[in-house]
Amino acid sequence: MTESNQQPQYTDEDFMRRAMVLAAKAEAEGEVPVGAVIVHDGKVVGEGWNRSITQHDATAHAEIMALRQAGQVLKNYRLLDATLYVTLEPCPMCAGAMVHSRIGKVVFGAHDLKTGAAGSIMNLLSYEQVNHHVAIESGLLADECRAQLQAFFKRRRAEKKAEKKARQAAEKSQAQD
Ligand SMILES: [Zn+2]
Repeated sequence: MTESNQQPQYTDEDFMRRAMVLAAKAEAEGEVPVGAVIVHDGKVVGEGWNRSITQHDATAHAEIMALRQAGQVLKNYRLLDATLYVTLEPCPMCAGAMVHSRIGKVVFGAHDLKTGAAGSIMNLLSYEQVNHHVAIESGLLADECRAQLQAFFKRRRAEKKAEKKARQAAEKSQAQD
């Protein structure tokens, strides 16, 4: 086989960029923009984005959605040599699910200083007493991942402010009637 017949070699950055595209998909659906991609043998086997609001499901985080799809694709809930790329540091629920899936490695973008369970508030991925340890790589495209989230929250704050203003104006005009 010649070089040109081989599959293109994607980099960690390519997969994180794909996760950012999925995060944008979440944002378009009114969700907090977080996206996740699972790669096994150089191929994407799972993709997910936040869907908690649209699916009325507190567990529908990007990572959980990607784990579910990867399990279906590989016909195995154990994702031993797979790597999960996610734009934001996983929460305790997702970190726990990653340990259950025996996934090999997680690469995340922005740190989550409030609920991050891959080192920020705790580290469930390599907890001493837990038998499976997930390797962690943090900070890949962190600035871009953080900017995506910050832009979302900034826009949402502005929308809430505008809503409040419109409501107050409506109340004022009613009071004058
Ligand atoms: Zn989560």
